[in-house]
Amino acid sequence: MSTAVPPLCVGAHVSTAGGLATAAERALAIGAQCVQIFVGAPQQWAEPRYGDDEVQALRAALAEHRIGPLFIHAPYLVNLAALRDDLWARSVQTMVRQLAWANRLDAVGVIVHLGSPGPGDAERAAGPARVAEALRRVLDAHSGSARLILENDAGSGNRLGRQVAELGELLAAARGDPRLGICLDTAHAFEAGYAVTTPDGLAALVGELEQVGAKRLLVVHANDSQTPQGSRRDRHANIGDGEIGAAGLRLLASDPLLRTQPWVLEVPGIKGDGPDAENVARLRALATC
Ligand SMILES: [Zn+2]
Ligand SMILES: [Zn+2]
Repeated sequence: MSTAVPPLCVGAHVSTAGGLATAAERALAIGAQCVQIFVGAPQQWAEPRYGDDEVQALRAALAEHRIGPLFIHAPYLVNLAALRDDLWARSVQTMVRQLAWANRLDAVGVIVHLGSPGPGDAERAAGPARVAEALRRVLDAHSGSARLILENDAGSGNRLGRQVAELGELLAAARGDPRLGICLDTAHAFEAGYAVTTPDGLAALVGELEQVGAKRLLVVHANDSQTPQGSRRDRHANIGDGEIGAAGLRLLASDPLLRTQPWVLEVPGIKGDGPDAENVARLRALATC
């Protein structure tokens, strides 16, 4: 036991059903210290409509219970790699609005998957330039300090961001804007092929993160994986019940760079209703031994 190591900040993605401020109550109920939410419906383009009273209620509830930081996850429809102009433009516009919400809610930023340009080698080759231009447009139109946070991907089909180094290339292509950050999802990294359950494999992953810039890493998505290493199939598992396992997650949580970030659960839940007290307790337990 060492008193020099700060305890892991364990948080969770929680629902806002019934009002924005309910997110704070749900986090409190499961023992989550930090929190991630959707602002608006994740499967819809519609602009979220929350009044100042709801915004203030959430901020006050988080402050009262000392829950934070807050992250926003972008809607799933966003596809910054889309080759179709209408979908791409709508994705850019949605991200600008989501970032404005992040400012308003005092969130760290908005976490987004890069998306896919569609099947085929020609499409794959065209994807990165598409994302880079989208990132530049979003950041040009975003006047606040909220961060635009790129998440690594399991890499099914032609989905971009399978490698941390690719996220780094896109950061550079977007002029290295200081508001750009990275979210590392443990399940996605494992599914993408990183051997995160071995010291050497973890060192390779963290080395790639440091190459991009350790300060770019802003949050860890803490998930076990139902599918094996390198499967490129994104299926989250409850902590300790998947292919990464408790030992693998303990190794991940022991890394000095990773463990100093907020860890946000996006697990299916023991009863299938999302992150719960049991998963929070499991993660906290394996991170303290
Ligand atoms: Zn994730
Ligand atoms: Zn995932």
